[in-house]
Amino acid sequence: MRITDIRATTVTVPLEAPLRHANGCHWGRFVRTIVEVETDNGLVGLGEMGGGGESAEAVFRAMKGYLVGHDPARLEEMRFLIANPTASLYNNRTQVLAALEFACLDILGQAWGLPVCDILGGRLRDRVPFAAYCFFRYPNPRTGAGEVRTIDQLVENALSLKQRFGFRSHKLKAGVFHPDYELEAYRALAAALPGDSYRFDPNGVWSTEQAIRFGQAIEDLRNDYFEDPVYGLNGMRRTREMVRIPLATNTVVVNFEQLAANILNTAVDVILLDTTFWGGIRPCVKAAGICETFQIGVAVHSSGELGIQLATMLHLGAVLPNLSFAADAHYHHLTDDIIEGGLMPYEGGAIQVPTGPGLGVKLNRDKLREYNELYKRLGGYPYDQDPGRPGWTPILPNDRWADQHDSRPVPVPF
Ligand SMILES: [Mg+2]
Repeated sequence: MRITDIRATTVTVPLEAPLRHANGCHWGRFVRTIVEVETDNGLVGLGEMGGGGESAEAVFRAMKGYLVGHDPARLEEMRFLIANPTASLYNNRTQVLAALEFACLDILGQAWGLPVCDILGGRLRDRVPFAAYCFFRYPNPRTGAGEVRTIDQLVENALSLKQRFGFRSHKLKAGVFHPDYELEAYRALAAALPGDSYRFDPNGVWSTEQAIRFGQAIEDLRNDYFEDPVYGLNGMRRTREMVRIPLATNTVVVNFEQLAANILNTAVDVILLDTTFWGGIRPCVKAAGICETFQIGVAVHSSGELGIQLATMLHLGAVLPNLSFAADAHYHHLTDDIIEGGLMPYEGGAIQVPTGPGLGVKLNRDKLREYNELYKRLGGYPYDQDPGRPGWTPILPNDRWADQHDSRPVPVPF
């Protein structure tokens, strides 16, 4: 079997409402690049990467020069072919490699009649539990609905998510407002959802002292973990010495060098594995094996996903013996998907691991076209800009918080 073609299509899919985070905002939609890898026996494997546009599509077109004629089963060779770590001083193709790895695994599963999880060791679970991903949100620019700014709105949104999807774990994405306000919000969320568990993630924008102060103030709650309260292994280590909650990260341990450093001098208890950041599903499985050996926790991270990327997270979640936390996904904020059958359903807070060959998801070509057209109309958006605060630049540690009393509508094009 040989690779004959690689295609990339940028899409933008609407979210229920713009999602606010410490560095800016998802402006009411996700932009993703959908990758198709074709083989000489007529199979098409699917991949997905965050962001998109002409430059992302060109990067995948350029990969044809490397991969046409390559056997998709030779995945380790492909790693060195396009993302050799020493060459990556000059190019950084980890995320490109990830999308191509997804597609090659999809091809292999189709060729061999096996779901990807069966190639990766076999499923240990048929359903992967997910956490509710609660964000502060601007209102939907078209309907005016969906705002999450006040504590009442946050609690109402979390209760509604639990009712709709059955979540038992709830994550608050923070780092937007003053930490004192976010502490009040997090404690209100926990009080409204007794018996469930919670996690808090201010995206690393606090000082170590602020992280310690906040961590100590939530020690009594049923926290899964305290995620990236501060940026950097040393700030995390100092926080960990003073706060009796496991710390988690998706920012300072995102490759094997950093994982080794964290094991030699532990700063983080739970590694949030992201199939894109780590360069594919297989590196995440390898990293989870190292974490299993050293008794470090793992969970599945979400960097924003449509159905193809979600399938990679489900196959990963299916095979990890040490997955002891609900996975994260932005997925429930989406209004639609580009896969056949539309959005994958949640049941009791979990999503079924696909059972079909390969990743087990197929492209809906009408949707691909529709959301490619929408991308062409709207273009990209600056993830690290806040449409409600033009000219705002967050610093580290940050003290330039949004105002929770500011209810002015924001100019998000749609
Ligand atoms: Mg995070």
